[in-house]
Amino acid sequence: MNIKEFSYNLQKLYQEMSDSFSSYQSSTGWSCLPSCGKCCLNPEVDASILEMIPMAYSIYLEGKVDEWLEKLQTTKQEHCIVYEQGLKEGEGKCGRYKDRPSLCRMFGVSGHYNKQHEISLSVCKLIKEKYHLFDKELKGSLQETPMMADWSMKLASINPQLIQDKMPINKALLGALEKVAFTLQYQNDDSSH
Ligand code: SF4
Ligand code: SF4
Repeated sequence: MNIKEFSYNLQKLYQEMSDSFSSYQSSTGWSCLPSCGKCCLNPEVDASILEMIPMAYSIYLEGKVDEWLEKLQTTKQEHCIVYEQGLKEGEGKCGRYKDRPSLCRMFGVSGHYNKQHEISLSVCKLIKEKYHLFDKELKGSLQETPMMADWSMKLASINPQLIQDKMPINKALLGALEKVAFTLQYQNDDSSH
């Protein structure tokens, strides 16, 4: 795998994904709570190893692979290791926002297909509470909803493994760092011959 090219292509798609989901949140007015990072504290946030390659590649470019490998190998923390806690409880932010994986870009407000293949909206509980959203209102707001399944297909078009083998995010970052370190080390060794 060409890590640099793969990261570049994935970052491009990630940006389009974020634009789509954030502009939908802006157009509906259902924005996240200020300084909120509560979803990052959920230990069930998952990702595939390939989804974390851009983050791992940034860490590699900063020369911090060993530091992060050690953090990830020794941590007991179940929620995402790159989360930065704010001053107040529940406040915080992503320490690697530019490189975050797909779930982190789609979580707040997104569309799903139900069993009848109709569009239904999934909205973070805090956003629902803040804007007093009820199922009746959500059903009337489905046009232009960015669909998780459509974006997963776009990811799979880069590489099907991007949407397979999901695992806890810290484990996926560890796998990605190992892959980046091994591949780039191998490429460097190869080019020095
Ligand atoms: S990558 Fe960033 S946005 Fe995603 S869970 Fe971790 S801290 Fe939160
Ligand atoms: S999706 Fe919900 S929990 Fe996550 S930052 Fe937005 S408001 Fe907070």
